[in-house]
Amino acid sequence: MLIVLSMTCLTILGHLKNTGGFIMKQVGIIGLGIMGAPMAANLVKAGFEVFGYDVSVHAIEKAKASGVTIVDSAQKVGERTQWVITMLPNTSIVEDAIFGHDGLIHSLPAGSTVIDESSITPVASRNIGARLEEKQINFLDAPVSGGEPGAISGELAIMVGGDEAVFAQAKPIFDAIGGTTTLVGGIGAGTTAKLANQVMVNLNIAAMSEALVLAAKSGIDIDKMYQAIRSGLAGSNVLDAKVPLILDRNFEPGGKISINMKDLTNVMATAHDLDVPMPLSSSLLEIFHTLSANGHINEDHGAIVKYFENLANVTVSRKPGAK
Ligand code: NAD
Repeated sequence: MLIVLSMTCLTILGHLKNTGGFIMKQVGIIGLGIMGAPMAANLVKAGFEVFGYDVSVHAIEKAKASGVTIVDSAQKVGERTQWVITMLPNTSIVEDAIFGHDGLIHSLPAGSTVIDESSITPVASRNIGARLEEKQINFLDAPVSGGEPGAISGELAIMVGGDEAVFAQAKPIFDAIGGTTTLVGGIGAGTTAKLANQVMVNLNIAAMSEALVLAAKSGIDIDKMYQAIRSGLAGSNVLDAKVPLILDRNFEPGGKISINMKDLTNVMATAHDLDVPMPLSSSLLEIFHTLSANGHINEDHGAIVKYFENLANVTVSRKPGAK
């Protein structure tokens, strides 16, 4: 009898996530969009019971289909679990989900943890962390890179800021959604790393776009050029992710211009606070505003190429010399 009881206990514990003395089984996620939905699905696949909240009916339906239990406010997510991820568009929406009228702050007990995976500013992350600390709630800023494909495959690169012990406890959650997770430093270090990441990714797309337009106007076969250069020094994840989509004229987001424009705006604000001139990033921000004014705000950031195409009156396509 005793043996059967012990084996049953061991089986149950095997289904739970043991985080150094703290048992974690339920996880909440607020924001079930392009990134949040596949992250939630991967948490379900990893054996977590996942509670989700989103304001969009479409997002809710998609998340339900992957096994997420939907509740009807951020506060209610905090009633069901002590581990909550936020994956939301910007700072004010993140702050509202945590501190607003129906926010997490009204339900999460002391000792629980909020993991913000959204891309916001280091100043905002540190401010959120300090306000949560007043209620003895832990906070990690843990933005991600890898886009929708990385979120679907569970191979996101996750850059984390926060306390080492809290990070260690949260590791089973990160393992379910990420390929590599790195604790970069204290609160705000994750969001700082993400801003640097966004500068590199978006300027990379801009440089690539300028070069593609040059090659297109000269009339060479862009697909062959891409094959010729991709294993040399100009090869990159950005090149492999974006050139095939541009050649297919596929600008379905992925990472929307709106989201990346928000990131570059945050980059400039952070840089100016630190007295760091960023001539390339500030030019790119103007390019984003031009694309926004011309109706491309909801397209993938691969649509940066359209700015350069417009300047040179040429279209980058599979057909050499096409206008
Ligand atoms: P998205 O717009 O697809 O998803 C955001 C979701 O939040 C939507 O479903 C929306 O309905 C929901 N939402 C908005 N307000 C809400 C509220 N008050 N309460 C609950 N839900 C609310 O955006 P996304 O592409 O998934 O990006 C989310 C975050 O991840 C952003 O901060 C973005 O910068 C970052 N990010 C995006 C990518 C990418 O490639 N898309 C990559 C890395 C990081």
